[in-house]
Amino acid sequence: MIGTGTVSPSADRTASSYWVETDGVKLLMDCGAGTMHRCAQFRIPWHQATHVAITHFHQDHWGELPMFLFAGRWGTLPARTAPLTLIGPVGFRNRLMVLAGAVGDWLLDPGYPLETREIAPGATMDLARGVTLEACKTPHTAESLAYGVRAGGTRLVYTGDTGPDDALGRWAKGCDLLVAECSLPDGQGISIHLTPTQAGALARAAGANRLVLTHFYPQIEGTDPAGVARRAFKGDVVAAHDGDRFTIGS
Ligand SMILES: [Zn+2]
Ligand SMILES: [Zn+2]
Repeated sequence: MIGTGTVSPSADRTASSYWVETDGVKLLMDCGAGTMHRCAQFRIPWHQATHVAITHFHQDHWGELPMFLFAGRWGTLPARTAPLTLIGPVGFRNRLMVLAGAVGDWLLDPGYPLETREIAPGATMDLARGVTLEACKTPHTAESLAYGVRAGGTRLVYTGDTGPDDALGRWAKGCDLLVAECSLPDGQGISIHLTPTQAGALARAAGANRLVLTHFYPQIEGTDPAGVARRAFKGDVVAAHDGDRFTIGS
């Protein structure tokens, strides 16, 4: 858990960013502000990333992507030569081209091979031998996705940003670890974000083994989101902090 915060600046949480390592894959999911410094702090080998997957186009989820790409060329010794695959929702390529027009053509040609791919809701993409990425639409923005990673008979699901959604629960069925956004406390829920009770209900619908709550706005700080979510979900529940690490499988 690189960054468990939101767009709201926090002394303790940077914006959305998650690191997933499994056989042949080092995947960064979302790249919000603070990602790079947190990677350094937590000694995460960001320069060895094989894939970056962006859930949606809110700035707390991809605002630091240009910095990430630039750092691969100028921020690490030796400079990166290994290929990198960028993955995002439909419209991602066009966004990158427009962004390159502002920050510079290096964005799409950073000095190492860069591939950009778009993933449609419901689609599955091979990341490496035996490792797949799956996408599911979430009710948040027009393009917003949740991602699932399957490897070695295990499944990780990250909701990205989402509101309550029965279809998402069905899609997440049987995940070992559910990383769910938990933006706002019960009583302050809105249609495009989850409260602890709603995150718990999602984990229950999915039959998850473990629920890790993240994406905390200031309004929920100082409450007990894990305790509240536990009333709706009987499995293991953790309210994540930046730097937490979880292992799935053996
Ligand atoms: Zn967000
Ligand atoms: Zn968002």
